[in-house]
Amino acid sequence: MMSSKAEVTYEQCMEHVKQYIHNPDNIQLIQDAYEFAKDKHEGQFRKSGQPYVTHCIQVADTLAQMPCGPSTIAAGFLHDTVEDCCDVTEQTITDLFGEEISMLVSAVTKIGKIKLQDEEDYQASNHRKLFIAMAKDIRVIYIKLADRLHNMRTLQYMRPDKQKRISRETLSVYAPIAHRLGMNEIKSELEDLSFKYLHPIQYEEIKELVKKRESERDEQVQVMIKDIQTILDTYHIPLRIFGRSKHFYSIYKKMTQKNKRFEEILDLYAIRIVTDSVVHCYEILGYIHATYRPIPGRFKDYIAMPKANLYQSLHTTIVEAAHGNIFEIQIRTEQMDEVAERGVAAHWKYKESSGNENRQKDIEDSLAWFRDFSLMTDEDSTDAKEYMNVLQRDIFEANVYCLTPRGRVITLPPDSTPIDFAYRIHTDVGHKTVGAKINGAIAPLNTPLHNGDVVEILTNNHSQGPSADWIKIVKSGHARNKIRSFLQKKDRENRKEEIKQGQQMLENEFHRLNLDEKLLDPKRVESIIGSLSFKNLDDFYIGIAKKRVSIQAVVERLAKNQPKSLADEEIIKMYNKSGARYASRNESGVIVPGIDSIQVSLANCCSPIPGDDIIGYISQGHGVKVHRMECPNISREAKRLIPVQWAIDVDDHMYDVRLTIYSDDRTYLLSDIITIVQQYNATLKHVDSGIDSNSLTATTHLDLSVRNAEHLRMIMVNLKKIRSIHSVERVTK
Ligand code: MN
Repeated sequence: MMSSKAEVTYEQCMEHVKQYIHNPDNIQLIQDAYEFAKDKHEGQFRKSGQPYVTHCIQVADTLAQMPCGPSTIAAGFLHDTVEDCCDVTEQTITDLFGEEISMLVSAVTKIGKIKLQDEEDYQASNHRKLFIAMAKDIRVIYIKLADRLHNMRTLQYMRPDKQKRISRETLSVYAPIAHRLGMNEIKSELEDLSFKYLHPIQYEEIKELVKKRESERDEQVQVMIKDIQTILDTYHIPLRIFGRSKHFYSIYKKMTQKNKRFEEILDLYAIRIVTDSVVHCYEILGYIHATYRPIPGRFKDYIAMPKANLYQSLHTTIVEAAHGNIFEIQIRTEQMDEVAERGVAAHWKYKESSGNENRQKDIEDSLAWFRDFSLMTDEDSTDAKEYMNVLQRDIFEANVYCLTPRGRVITLPPDSTPIDFAYRIHTDVGHKTVGAKINGAIAPLNTPLHNGDVVEILTNNHSQGPSADWIKIVKSGHARNKIRSFLQKKDRENRKEEIKQGQQMLENEFHRLNLDEKLLDPKRVESIIGSLSFKNLDDFYIGIAKKRVSIQAVVERLAKNQPKSLADEEIIKMYNKSGARYASRNESGVIVPGIDSIQVSLANCCSPIPGDDIIGYISQGHGVKVHRMECPNISREAKRLIPVQWAIDVDDHMYDVRLTIYSDDRTYLLSDIITIVQQYNATLKHVDSGIDSNSLTATTHLDLSVRNAEHLRMIMVNLKKIRSIHSVERVTK
């Protein structure tokens, strides 16, 4: 299949162009582009010794064969002018040829500058994706492919080391892209040319073997073709039938990858039948299967189910009885054949041309359609569109490819930021990041990165490290994990600091109150933290440091079983008076452990009820006043506090409480409230209600007698359920 293609002249190229471009303005545009390129490359020569512009003509011609529209062909002529001609800038092209062509030329120039310096890190798939992602426009890829094709065809003039490097790149980047775009012709030629430079010995070997077998093979194939032709002629189906040979690189791949001998591969004879309609494809298949024995499992219907790159064809493998030769047969329409050889661009030539006079315009439109993939809508979903969707998801959405200033490719998820980029380079770089430059300009750290952005991370060794906000900004799990573990480590250090601080605060309070430091023995402390809802000592000390628990409450508990350490004369007096050892009940329902016959009464300010956490206050001359633990009146009275507790049998007592109810003002609200109070057998002692006429809200005070905290809780829960009531609060007087 490999043949050194003859180079075309400018005139030949224009003949190809004029076969499908008829608009005089477009022809003029292409001619202008050629004249400009010829003028600017004047005096420049290729390594082959030819004038540089011949390269431009070959590139433009390849584009015309695809076929591409006038802008793309013009850009093909101009593709090297910005890079190679010192007086031509992007602006020059814009001024002379417009934004669109200028964009194509710049993109081609920009891609040409990608240098993957980081050989260790080199991944062909990344390079391929970067290439496509940077192109952004399918026409840029077409131009690059045409450019590379001609460079490969003239590679013999390069230094051997360059030949190998360029061939490797062609094989790993350009050929797969051509394949992906369904451009079989270009793909095969790129592969065979690369193969020739990368493995010259194997290349020559296979070339020789193919040549030797050719005449013999040709004979077999010709006989078969004649037979099939005869059969099909009787059915009057229009068709072309021809033998086809595999290209060298595909033979080499089969030999190495599938470990087959050359003969095994070449024993397969290949024939292609091209007809005018899909119906005829299936008819032809039927006649062939009726005549020859098909090999089971080898029939593939790519017409009903096209390949991802739009390839359509019927494949079958048959045995020819007389010699036992095996033939691979492909059956397809003219359109399918062209798409298979030339790729997606050819697709529109057919899609758009049928019955349309202004075919040229349509082809242009179709190609322009590629310009912005994001403009695609579902309503004109064709198979081609579906294919481009897949391509877009794969390449344009799956990842963002950015570069370090040194040209290393960094792969990131979509919408990633410079922070993600920094962590991808190195964890320490991430931690020390203080700023970023994107394409040379300072940018905020939450700026979303785009394909081809060159990102420079600014670091500072004295940086405080990542902040918690970064977790919300970053898009890569990698960066998120690194930030999280940094923050966790910092947290652990902070905790240690807070634990120390909490311990110190407690010690200070003990000193201030003149309490025995022995009470701060960790075992002792540990025994009380559960009742303050702390899981462990560390959390407890942090709780103190962060004031999540009142230090007074802690002191009270720690001093609980040490009445002497309260060292208040009043207590001693009480002991002396009672002389009793065991606690006993009194009217309040509260007992003071260890002290009998002491006057105990419930404080009016907070009205404790059974079930409340309580504490005793040693009043001067009025015995012990029992307060709720959270009563604001005792919070500053650590010295005069004494542990007390509810007697077990307090249920026959009723206790006073006060509630304040905030609600909207409405009729019957008070009646609803009183109903609930009665339902739960509480005694209503007093009620008053005030209305704010501005906001139309009502504040109601209730004085109730209840049995205990649980009883009160039930009443409050049900009061809250009443319509229009916003909140119900237990208050101190
Ligand atoms: Mn070039």
